[in-house]
Amino acid sequence: MSLSRLARSIAESPTLRLNEEARILRERGEDVINLGIGEPKNRAPITAILSAASKLSGGDVKYTPTDGLPSLKKAIIRYTEEHYDRLAAPENVIVATGAKQAIHTLLFTLLNPQEEVIILAPYWVSYPEMIRMVGGVPVVVTPEDGTFQPRMEDIERAVSGYTKAVILNTPNNPSGMVFPENFVADLVEFCERKNLYLITDDIYHQLVFDGQRAAPAYNFTLKDVESSRIIVINGISKLYGMTGFRIGWAVGPRAIIEIMANVQAQTTSCASAVLQAGAEGALTGMQSFVESLRLTIQNNRDVVMQELTGVASIVTRRPQGTFYCLPDFRYYNQDSVALSNFLLKKALVVTVPGKEFGMEGHLRLSYSGGVKDLTEGVARIKWALDPNSPNEIYIGDRKLVRDWL
Ligand code: PMP
Repeated sequence: MSLSRLARSIAESPTLRLNEEARILRERGEDVINLGIGEPKNRAPITAILSAASKLSGGDVKYTPTDGLPSLKKAIIRYTEEHYDRLAAPENVIVATGAKQAIHTLLFTLLNPQEEVIILAPYWVSYPEMIRMVGGVPVVVTPEDGTFQPRMEDIERAVSGYTKAVILNTPNNPSGMVFPENFVADLVEFCERKNLYLITDDIYHQLVFDGQRAAPAYNFTLKDVESSRIIVINGISKLYGMTGFRIGWAVGPRAIIEIMANVQAQTTSCASAVLQAGAEGALTGMQSFVESLRLTIQNNRDVVMQELTGVASIVTRRPQGTFYCLPDFRYYNQDSVALSNFLLKKALVVTVPGKEFGMEGHLRLSYSGGVKDLTEGVARIKWALDPNSPNEIYIGDRKLVRDWL
């Protein structure tokens, strides 16, 4: 069969694939623990449910304007003012089917074939594939010192005549790191000086721990939304645990948003009217919801760190935000894909290989689920890898005996 070479070269999403594998195993009655997917266990905020339900039960479910329901855009404008200290006009905002679609549409809007986008390893799995999908070239900058903190000198060295944009994701998926303010400030200044777009993927920006804050890029420029080269991506998936609503957005200069709307008009027309109403309900409802989710996740972070620090050979940097940590498992196996498969097969625990994020030898563990799954999941990992741990474990009512160490 003759199919597009480009489409065939696009890798499957490993996180979605692993999630599906876990679901199938669970359906077969296997007691799988999923530390793969970043998806909190909470119910959607009641204001979101009621707002979506009222839209649905009214029966008036039609196309919305391509760039989003005006009332949802108004809520996003208020959110932008509150969290970014910037006034946005409706023409600066576009609603999309998830932050993922917003990023894809933005990349399609910005890039000519062969133009480059700098991404910082460890990076979210979808960035390189989305850049390639629209004909661009991902340029990965990896910290040489083994930390998860990118360095400006490495970014400066990666810039070429083809560089169009840099993607910044702090707090970072998969490392959980919040980059220092002086790094973000330097990057903003650098992008302005070099005329590069700075795409800030802020999908986790309120999920920060221990009283820290992820300062938005706008804090480090005097320019407004219209005149700066910053484009902010955000959404409700992580902040409110509303992944299935599939609503995200972009805020940026109107010339960019206008072209994004044309692209979206020819692809999805608009995001679902019902789910946009749900997003509006979340944004205009009680915001203490986000804080209680944040506290739950912070507690989960503490649990996973406590469980992991017991094993000296698993080196874990303490995450400062998101739902993820990215422990270094190289002591056990340099090949993260093989290790992740091994853990799924032997211990029925889903993890995501670090290789997918540009960090071979590491595994991403998500602590967005329940505490019981976390403690049991880490116990199973220790059982499978650490000869000092007891060699018997119960998975459900099945006793497993380790016979490979
Ligand atoms: N950016 C990052 C860094 C993410 O981790 C995710 C979700 N895993 C997204 C964007 C996409 O979010 P959405 O569900 O809104 O498409």
